[in-house]
Amino acid sequence: MLGLIGRIRRLGRVAEPAPPPPERSPAAVGLGGSVQVRHVDAGSCNGCEIEIGQAFGPVYDAERYGARLVASPRHADALLVTGPVTRNMAEPLRRTYEAVPEPRRVVAVGDCARNCGVFAGAYGVAGAVADVVPVDVQVPGCPPAPEAIVAVVRGLTGR
Ligand code: SF4
Repeated sequence: MLGLIGRIRRLGRVAEPAPPPPERSPAAVGLGGSVQVRHVDAGSCNGCEIEIGQAFGPVYDAERYGARLVASPRHADALLVTGPVTRNMAEPLRRTYEAVPEPRRVVAVGDCARNCGVFAGAYGVAGAVADVVPVDVQVPGCPPAPEAIVAVVRGLTGR
């Protein structure tokens, strides 16, 4: 235990310095500085999940800007949706969206979420996220960099 504490002290803070706060997104109207986020993988290859994990990890640390991942859509203000929406995930995504209290926001993370990306036209794909639920903000990239995900989340929290 003491060895672990010593290692933590030696390592110090690993978080990137905070860039200046971004413009508050129009999608932030009705949200008050703190945003609880439910992630939904609607059919992703998991590349976007790795970057979301980094965005909320100790280096990029999105929590310091007021964003927090939560386990239930009923506790969430916003959904982070990745991947093209597969046929099997279209209905669960609709239900998850309906379970988020208003004012709810949807962020489409990655090119697949925006326009099906490399999976466009695949037999199992029902469509992009906006074909299933209303989308407020998009994060382009395949996968998007953690900095881009953090910037969009900061646009929602305004911090
Ligand atoms: S955008 Fe790229 S990384 Fe993200 S789910 Fe699609 S193929 Fe994977």
